[in-house]
Amino acid sequence: MILKYFKELDRKEQKRGYPKDVAIEEIDKIMRKVPPGEVMLRKCGICGATDSVDFVKVYSYLWKVCRTCQSLFVANPPTSESLKDMYDSDEYASMNSHISNEDNTEFRAHSIVKPKYEFIKSHITTEKHTWFDIGCGFGELLHIVQNDGWIASGIDTNPLSSEFGKKQLGVDISVGYFSPEFCKETNNKYGVVSVMNVLEHCLEPRTVVKAISSLQDVGDNLLVELPHFPSLSAYLCASFPEAISRVLTPPLHLYLFSLDGITALLNDCGYTPISCWMYGQDAGELLDTLDVMSRGVVSYSDVLLSDSDSIQKILDEREFSDHFLVFSKKVR
Ligand SMILES: [Zn+2]
Repeated sequence: MILKYFKELDRKEQKRGYPKDVAIEEIDKIMRKVPPGEVMLRKCGICGATDSVDFVKVYSYLWKVCRTCQSLFVANPPTSESLKDMYDSDEYASMNSHISNEDNTEFRAHSIVKPKYEFIKSHITTEKHTWFDIGCGFGELLHIVQNDGWIASGIDTNPLSSEFGKKQLGVDISVGYFSPEFCKETNNKYGVVSVMNVLEHCLEPRTVVKAISSLQDVGDNLLVELPHFPSLSAYLCASFPEAISRVLTPPLHLYLFSLDGITALLNDCGYTPISCWMYGQDAGELLDTLDVMSRGVVSYSDVLLSDSDSIQKILDEREFSDHFLVFSKKVR
C-alpha cells in the first residue's frame, strides 16, 4: 500500500468564524438531546469481532475499543429513528452551517478537497468515467472531478445542498438517504464511489460498504475519508470530555477507524486498499483544548499556532493523526 503523511492547511483560514467554545456548546446540545439506545453492543461494527474493552464514557454514551482491530465504537448507539430526527433538527443544521456554507465553498473545494483528488488520481484503476459521491454536501468534490472530465453525481440528505450545487457549481445532486434499497433501484455502475466523512455516522458501516460494492465492478475504485484511531485528538477528548467539539462526538460519530479495521471491512466487501494518506488537526485541537481549559487566562494558540504544522507533521508520521483517506480497488 502507498502511504503518505501530513497535509498542509491554512489553519487560520479554516478556523475563521467557528471558535472552539461555540462548537462545544453546539455539540453539547446535540449530545444531551439524543438518548443512547438500550442495547449494549459487544460486536465491533467495523471488523465484526466480539472482544472489546471500555474506552471512555461521553455523556451517556460508552465508547469501546475493539481488541482485534483497535477501532473505537459506540456500544449503546441511539435508534435509527432518533438519529434521523437529530440529522433533521435545527441544532444539526446550525452546527453544519459553520463547517460547510455557501461562503466557504470555493475555499473548501480548492484547499481541502482538490489535494485529496490529486493524491488518488494516479492510483485510479477503473476504466469507467463515472463518479458517485455519497453524502456530497454542496458538491465541492463533484465540482473538482467534473472539471477534470468525470461524469459526476452525488446524493445528500440536505435539500439546500442539492439546490446550491446545481446553481452555483453546476453539479448533479439528488436528495435522499443512501441505502441498500437505493442501490437496488438504480441500474448505474460507478467507476469511482467516494464516501467522505460519512461511515463514522452510520449505525452499520459494513452494510453501507456492501451496498456500495453492488454499484461497482472488479477494477472500480472506492475512496473513503474517516476519523482515525488512535489519534491525539481522540485522547484529548477522552481526557477533557467537557471540551469535546469534534472526533469523539456521539451520536454524530459512532465509530473511529483504525487502518487495520477499515482494511478488514474493505476486504470483507471485496476491496483491497491501494493507498492511504494520514493527516489531521490534532495540533490545532491540542491548542484549542488548552485555551479552553485555561479559561482564557493563557492563549496557547497565540504562542504556538505557527508551530502547529511541525507538531502535526510528527503526529501524522507516527500515525497518530485524527483523519485519513483510504483509496481501494474492487478485486472480487
Ligand atoms: Zn474491530
